Amino acid sequence: MRISFAQKLIFSYVFVILASFSFIAFFLSRNLEANSLQNIQSSLITQAGLIENRIPLERLKQEDIPYLEALAKEFSGKTSCRITIIKTTGRVLADSETPESQIQRMENHLYRPEVKTALTGAVGVDKRYSSTLKINMLYIALPLKDKNEITGILRLALPLESVRKTLFALRRTVFTGLFFALALAFILASLITGRTVQTIKRMIRVSRRFSEGDFSHKMIDLPADEIGELASTLNKMASDLEDKIKQIKAQNQKLSAVFNSMIEGIIVVDKDLRIVSINPEIEKLFNILKRESEGKIFLEVIRNNDIFEILSSVLNEGKAKSGEISLIAVERRVFEVNATPILDNKSAAGCLVVIHDITEIRRLETVRSDFVANVSHELKTPLTSIKGFVETLLEGALDDRENNRKFLMIIHDHAERLDKLVNDLLSLSHLESKEITLKRSDFNLKEQFDEIISGFRAQSKKKAIDIKNELPSSLQVTADRDRIEQVITNLVDNAIKFNKEKGLVRIYSEEIKGRIKVTVEDSGIGIPVKDIPRIFERFYRVDKARSRELGGTGLGLSIVKHIIELHNGSTGVESAEGFGSKFWFTLPQ
Ligand code: ADP
Repeated sequence: MRISFAQKLIFSYVFVILASFSFIAFFLSRNLEANSLQNIQSSLITQAGLIENRIPLERLKQEDIPYLEALAKEFSGKTSCRITIIKTTGRVLADSETPESQIQRMENHLYRPEVKTALTGAVGVDKRYSSTLKINMLYIALPLKDKNEITGILRLALPLESVRKTLFALRRTVFTGLFFALALAFILASLITGRTVQTIKRMIRVSRRFSEGDFSHKMIDLPADEIGELASTLNKMASDLEDKIKQIKAQNQKLSAVFNSMIEGIIVVDKDLRIVSINPEIEKLFNILKRESEGKIFLEVIRNNDIFEILSSVLNEGKAKSGEISLIAVERRVFEVNATPILDNKSAAGCLVVIHDITEIRRLETVRSDFVANVSHELKTPLTSIKGFVETLLEGALDDRENNRKFLMIIHDHAERLDKLVNDLLSLSHLESKEITLKRSDFNLKEQFDEIISGFRAQSKKKAIDIKNELPSSLQVTADRDRIEQVITNLVDNAIKFNKEKGLVRIYSEEIKGRIKVTVEDSGIGIPVKDIPRIFERFYRVDKARSRELGGTGLGLSIVKHIIELHNGSTGVESAEGFGSKFWFTLPQ
């Protein structure tokens, strides 16, 4: 059972009143009882003394029962006491409450305590339950003396009913007083505690709101006492708390904005390897859901042993660790994993893992090293030849009239190749440098193609290739003319180089979504399906030896791609091995 503060206060008031009243009532009634008994006793003794003188001793000696009986009754009527006259043998001679006929049958009174005392010559007093009258009585016994000899006993008895009644009346008064005092105490306590309890209740209501995070209400009208002080301390605490919560919320928002928008994947685990949090990047990467993952064991959600091992060792050793892992979903991707312990008192309470996609970095590194290897290789071949023939010439072939010219021609061809290669490399690096600015102008694309095709006349004639320029004569474009010329040259050159004898080259255009798509189609050797995705890469060639033989560097298509992309266009190829290829590029209109 819950007892309220107000009830406790009221109870304590009532209890104090009750305790003090009980104390007073107890002592008062005890004192009063003793006093009244004393008074009654004294008056009985006085009365007994008066009666004693009126009893004729000779009648006593003669045992004149009727006389003594009449005397007892007379005195009893006057004193309202029970009067008994007893012989020294204990035999009752007269008793005011017993009829004469029954006197003879009365018990011997010799061993009544008051009678025993009276027989010694003193006044006997006793208070006890009378078996004759069935009530509490006060007995006084006096010796009846003839000179110095005790001839009988006079006993006066008074029922203690009146004492009981007096005490009862007193108790009733005390109880009535007590009742009123309690009622008054109750009312006063209620009034006094009412205001305090009201304030406390208000404090409870407001602090309950505080605990629910509502700080908009504060405690007002505070009393100038300790409770008021407590309430104002609570108010102060609430506003401090509100500030702190606001700060924490703002910090949390910032943190979660960073957490959610990071391109790195982030996992936080506790020391038992349970996932505490993951960010959207991790959801995407491992195809999992944040709400379903949090609280679960790491390996249950992310079945990656490499990350798990890194995590475990960070938690065991309390030191940061990193590693590289590869994941294969659609394609193989490489990730750098950095795991740092979250320290709590020098031991790891958890671990923060940052997963960073480094596929592109690794790819670029490979591309760069491949490129260096490719360039060196491409340069080395002609240089070796040139060196070889120069040495041959120096060693005497210079005077060999039949061959010296042939050797010089070979040196010249290789030098030309070197020159082409270096030129292609230069233009590629220029295109890739991003510092390039296009010199745009309006020109007719069909005329541009015609001009270039005529430059390839000799080559196409040699293989009896028919080149058809089907572009509309009105086709105007706005672009960097020199660069587009480079694109056309490379595409037409390839279409002839990789064509068959008596092959066909068709150039045509179409308009798609506000863009012009120009296609150079040939009926040549085509490109194997596996090579198609890499055909625009630098130095990528289906058949290296053949390309070299045909004077190619493997950079042509790469240059095409770069130039078209600088014009915000796109390039592509469709090809069927053995049947021919269609290289296309688009330009915004
Ligand atoms: P290059 O022509 O100097 O070898 P490119 O970059 O122009 O270099 O071409 C790369 C490779 O693409 C060529 O080696 C060849 O294997 C292939 N290729 C280009 N154009 C065609 C085409 N029209 N038909 C078949 N293969 C082609």
